[in-house]
Amino acid sequence: MAEENLHVSPTPLDLHAVTHGELLALMEELGQPAFRAKQIEDWVWNKGASSPDEMTNLPKALREALSERVAPLGAEEVARQVSADGSRKYLLRFGDGAAVECVGMPSGSKLSVCVSTQAGCAMGCAFCATGQYGLNRSLTSGEIYEQVMHVRNDFNTRVTSVVFMGQGEPFANYDATLKALRKLNDPAALNIGARHLTVSTCGLIPQILRFANEPEQFTLAVSLHSTVQKTRNALMPGVKRFSLVHLYAALGEYVDKTGRRPTYEYALIGGINDTEEEIDSLCDFCRGTLCHVNLIQLNEVSGSPFKPSTPEKAQEFLKRLERVGVEATIRNSRGADIDAACGQLRQRILK
Ligand code: SAH
Ligand code: SF4
Repeated sequence: MAEENLHVSPTPLDLHAVTHGELLALMEELGQPAFRAKQIEDWVWNKGASSPDEMTNLPKALREALSERVAPLGAEEVARQVSADGSRKYLLRFGDGAAVECVGMPSGSKLSVCVSTQAGCAMGCAFCATGQYGLNRSLTSGEIYEQVMHVRNDFNTRVTSVVFMGQGEPFANYDATLKALRKLNDPAALNIGARHLTVSTCGLIPQILRFANEPEQFTLAVSLHSTVQKTRNALMPGVKRFSLVHLYAALGEYVDKTGRRPTYEYALIGGINDTEEEIDSLCDFCRGTLCHVNLIQLNEVSGSPFKPSTPEKAQEFLKRLERVGVEATIRNSRGADIDAACGQLRQRILK
């Protein structure tokens, strides 16, 4: 092919990823005043525009020039389910076909959003629909942020908290997760208080320690599910290499460093992690430490042999933990009627 016929299209610009400086340089290149950069940022981070066409306070010529350069911002909604309790669960698809779930959970004047950090997950937890599917790819910080915007726009109200508890392991995608947390916290963007931004991890120790050193007061949740090593290895094979002894020490370090109370997630599975030995062990793990235990009703995943524990068992866990001075709650499962557990909508729609 003659060289002059070779046309290489420039890589589309990701407006979620450009820095303010890069945007200023682009404005200069396009012969635009500097304040246009701020206007564009406002559309991207506050107004949730999905393309430059929607940026109505920009001159038409700039909108057209941007349209030729930038990658689509929004995600396509592939499916949604609405729960009797008002929760809405969305399946969103990005440009390359990667699909993830996010959920909006209203409560009075509050709106809580649950986001995914990866399409799929490599950790392979035995009770988790996403774990069965494996990892497709990690999301960018913009794609994580975009889920919050999608829910906000759909409910047309302010988001008061975000939990990183959708698909994927946030700490296996640490940099994008942190960047998204900072943007959600940014007063010039969604301005959500750091304490109202919670990251849930299956227990990646190096990242827990790194998180302890971040200056913001983000909240940490750790998926424990068992404090008996053999049971935990079977339920959560992806974190076998991080033993409970080391996890215990890392959490101690986290608390010393931050003074903040981590949440421990414990999904009760009948006959597996709700035995006498398991209750004793959990009490020993938590006794005398700063923590809050969330006892979760297991969501049944189709094709999985695991069944939730009885409500009586959950009450027994609660009582026994309280007896040794450990704060615990039984978390009422939101959206139980809409495949609310991690990965279930995706599993049903995309297979
Ligand atoms: N990967 C991270 C965050 C996403 S999972 C983590 O594992 O912590 C969010 C929470 O949902 C975790 O506590 C996870 O253990 C839990 N979970 C996964 N499958 C579940 C199911 N079938 N029933 C109840 N909780 C489940
Ligand atoms: Fe991944 Fe969390 Fe599911 Fe485990 S529970 S497979 S870490 S998403």
